[in-house]
Amino acid sequence: MEDTPQQLQEFDNHRFVSYIWDPKTQMEGFIAIHRSSKNNPAFGATRIVEYPSKVDALRDALNLSRLMSYKAALAGLPYGGAKGVIILPPHLNPKERRDVIKSYTKRVNYMGGHFVTGADVGIRPTDLKVMRENSEFIEGVNSQPVKFTAMGLMMAIEVALEEVFGSPDISNRSFAIQGVGKIGSSLVALLSQAGAKKIYIADIDKQCVSEVKTRFPKVEVVTPAQIYRQKVDIFCPCALGNSLTPKTISRIKAPIILGGANNQLESRTVGELLHKLGILYAPDYVVNAGGIISVVDQYENKRFSEDRIAKRLNNIRVIFKSLLAQSKSSGRPLNIVADEMAESIFNNH
Ligand code: NAD
Repeated sequence: MEDTPQQLQEFDNHRFVSYIWDPKTQMEGFIAIHRSSKNNPAFGATRIVEYPSKVDALRDALNLSRLMSYKAALAGLPYGGAKGVIILPPHLNPKERRDVIKSYTKRVNYMGGHFVTGADVGIRPTDLKVMRENSEFIEGVNSQPVKFTAMGLMMAIEVALEEVFGSPDISNRSFAIQGVGKIGSSLVALLSQAGAKKIYIADIDKQCVSEVKTRFPKVEVVTPAQIYRQKVDIFCPCALGNSLTPKTISRIKAPIILGGANNQLESRTVGELLHKLGILYAPDYVVNAGGIISVVDQYENKRFSEDRIAKRLNNIRVIFKSLLAQSKSSGRPLNIVADEMAESIFNNH
């Protein structure tokens, strides 16, 4: 590999970055810990994705682990951010996949509890089961992170609607959902339940699209390229990162951008551009923290309690409102105000 972590712009003095490789199973990837404290572990789910190269996987691990520190800080959680990424080997049969996941989980165990992980993009329920069977440092099995992420997004959507339209009412509003995997489809379900006037969806995976269309026949399917251009009240990025670039935001007609995907902004500058354009961009790690809140709740309390998690989710509403007020009074972009607040918290852990 040509680049070392510290040569990459994504490297932010991470506390620990490890390349993991098991020639026997073809398991390959990275574990990155951005920040952690002496007494508390770092949290971050694991993804298994086909990366174009090792450097792309490393960049993803560095970026996402960093993002998790911001997310935990503003969710009021005293834990650092981490991430595990596995480079998906091509054409795995179920046994080979199981071996890859098992081998990865062994590496998680080597960390002796400094890294607590669970399921992110690409990790299937069967994979999570294998992880759980082989490690005590896997959380999120019973805490329903997807459900609580979507619930947190709904709270934030109400706050954003109130801010822009003067009412949190969802029933008269329209939405464009980019990516209808676990998070996007859960959001479609909650928005439909709340009586959203119009929902457009797009996904590169035709099966995902047809499953959502079958469950919610009123949604309108558009192509992944068209989703940006829909005349809606909220554009919801729920696919992978970096979907907001100077080019893509020039197509967006929605006055609000708020969704579940991690690392939506290609760079901080894109957040500043959105601010200049008068588009309310809700910092991803603020509004999609429902999953980590539920996972941490399971870690801390062992027993699942929907009521307790729902109460903790309210912090998303509180912090988002406070950030909006600070951005308004200072005239500064919301993403910058949020970044600075998070940094001041985790740098003082
Ligand atoms: P997922 O893999 O279930 O869904 C992602 C979907 O996006 C897939 O259906 C994929 O086909 C689609 N997609 C990829 N590229 C696309 C494109 N260019 N246009 C349209 N669709 C595209 O993953 P998920 O768990 O739903 O996570 C979605 C995002 O939310 C990720 O960024 C993830 O990190 C973040 N997130 C997930 C959770 C969680 O608990 N799962 C919690 C917080 C944040």
